Amino acid sequence: MSLLYAEDMGGDEVADEETNAFVQWRHAPPAQWRFCPLCRADLVDRSWDGKVRRYCPNCGFVYWERPLPAAAAVIVRAERPSEIVLVRRRYPPEEGQWTLPGGGIEAGESVIEAAQREATEETGLLITIDCQLGTWSTPTKETVVTFFVAHPLTDSLNAGTDAIEARWFTLEEAPRLAFSTHRDALVRFIQRRGN
Ligand SMILES: [Zn+2]
Repeated sequence: MSLLYAEDMGGDEVADEETNAFVQWRHAPPAQWRFCPLCRADLVDRSWDGKVRRYCPNCGFVYWERPLPAAAAVIVRAERPSEIVLVRRRYPPEEGQWTLPGGGIEAGESVIEAAQREATEETGLLITIDCQLGTWSTPTKETVVTFFVAHPLTDSLNAGTDAIEARWFTLEEAPRLAFSTHRDALVRFIQRRGN
């Protein structure tokens, strides 16, 4: 799976058809939910505690909209602690830009399992988690990302299908990351290292 971060992408500023298709797949605002997924009746707006939600008057289904959970990793090696793995995105949003390896948590997996799976999918590395850096909401509040520090159990770095490229960067030469949550996590990682 690719990264599912919606930040820096206002819904009204969709750039092209491909991006639009991605947005539709990624996240549908409540107003776009037209029919009940259980009984196919028309959904209507109904207010709970001052917040409007889509509601099915036929069977009682309510669309409780929540942020999407995601996980990402700062991968470091003990013998080269000033280098991290970055991946270059193949797909929107922010295709062609660099990020930490990560992505959406699938149903049935833990946040740690998601970080490990995404790292393997995007970099070819098997990783083990050392500690948690923190959790950030994206600027649009649509996604919540938990960042870990991890180290690789394997050597060969290979970009997966979602990535154009995966490579080691020193912290000094690392390019600006595409997402503010990733930038914030990297700042905290550097602060914790004491650099
Ligand atoms: Zn229904």
